[in-house]
Amino acid sequence: MLLPLSLIAAGINEMKVLVIGGGIIGNAVAWRLARAGIEVTIVERGRAGQESSWAAAGMIAPQAEAEGPGPFLRLCVQAKQTFEALLPELIAESGVDPQYDMASGVLYLALNQNDRAELAARAQWQREAGLEVEEISGEKARAISPMVSPGAVHALYMPNENRVDNRQLTQAFLNAALKAGAHLIEDSWVETIETRGGRFAGLRIQGGRLIEGDGAVNAAGSWASQIRGMEADNVRLYPVRGQIVCFQARPNLFGPSIFSLRGYAVPRRDGRVLTGSTREMARYSKDVTLEGMESIVRAAKEMLPSLGALRFREAWAGLRPATDDFLPVLGASPTIAGLYYATGHFRSGILLAALTGKLMASIITGREPETDISPFTPARFSRSHPNAPRS
Ligand SMILES: Cc1cc2nc3c(=O)[nH]c(=O)nc-3n(C[C@H](O)[C@H](O)[C@H](O)COP(=O)(O)OP(=O)(O)OC[C@H]3O[C@@H](n4cnc5c(N)ncnc54)[C@H](O)[C@@H]3O)c2cc1C
Repeated sequence: MLLPLSLIAAGINEMKVLVIGGGIIGNAVAWRLARAGIEVTIVERGRAGQESSWAAAGMIAPQAEAEGPGPFLRLCVQAKQTFEALLPELIAESGVDPQYDMASGVLYLALNQNDRAELAARAQWQREAGLEVEEISGEKARAISPMVSPGAVHALYMPNENRVDNRQLTQAFLNAALKAGAHLIEDSWVETIETRGGRFAGLRIQGGRLIEGDGAVNAAGSWASQIRGMEADNVRLYPVRGQIVCFQARPNLFGPSIFSLRGYAVPRRDGRVLTGSTREMARYSKDVTLEGMESIVRAAKEMLPSLGALRFREAWAGLRPATDDFLPVLGASPTIAGLYYATGHFRSGILLAALTGKLMASIITGREPETDISPFTPARFSRSHPNAPRS
């Protein structure tokens, strides 16, 4: 990976990098950059940590997230390892405990014979990838979690799939970044990426102010491609709405997170139970709809009928940042020296945040990234790239 000349000339300790977006990804990138000695400023259009990173369910669950084997599964597995390795440092530096529930596990239920066949195929590719997954009977699933429906005919038990409080985790990355010397500018909507001679020069904020820097990381989530000036990269982001319906139970009522092919229920230590979710193209609307709630509640009751007696607490929606191929975009812009992307994390940004921060810091400081990120390069969308989408 070649370091843009302007950054080498400045020297790492004099580099000034601007991070667009104060979601979990921008905050994690800012933390690792600040820890590498770079002067970092997060530029956030509203308040940091209030979008998708706030709305998520908080699964740290590569096996539940990936749809099959391949580079994305490998990225997710490595992301979990990186997250666990960095967690003690993150808690110590941020002063925030994101309530990581180690060994909580996932029970993936089959509620009919079709589900069972699909889960058997899932178990097979996961075992082949060296991941721990047990195929168990409905009775055994009910022994692990007594709330599981008598209608569960079969289940996968994934003992290493965990969960975290994503709102606290997003705050932890932000606190750690600020303590490491990063700055945060809120209420500042980045409208345009300004360039000079093909190099990044600064961010033009709504109202006309220019914030200058040696480089920038576009971590603006679902809004990343609304920023002007980077059209030649052909990187497009779409918001995919996900709704969550939250109920209140007694604390620590049930252990593992429960999934089926139609929904999930994720408990929090304080007794909240998050049930989700939908995948909808609804532009930038974060409305909670009757149809959305209906499908979530139906799926949740099918898995855990006793949820029907729980008190409704609240419902919300967030926008998952998706790309044309539903994979993240990590790395340098093919057309603007000093511009980088860290976005498109779709359903997995909570899981991928720690690794993304680490990888982006390596790339920007000119070190070889720890992982092969070529499947996620922004250049794959360039019109000249063999895998570029036809539009
Ligand atoms: C219902 C739901 C459940 C989910 N569950 C999980 C899960 O269990 N596990 C998991 O790993 N992931 C999950 N996700 C996905 C995860 O939430 C996202 O992948 C992740 O939050 C993306 O983080 P981000 O920082 O890129 O985006 P965001 O959190 O959306 O942050 C982007 C930030 O950029 C700012 N911004 C945008 N445009 C500009 C601009 N022009 N100028 C300045 N700032 C700007 C925004 O205001 C925002 O603060 C879930 C998502 C949803 C919606």
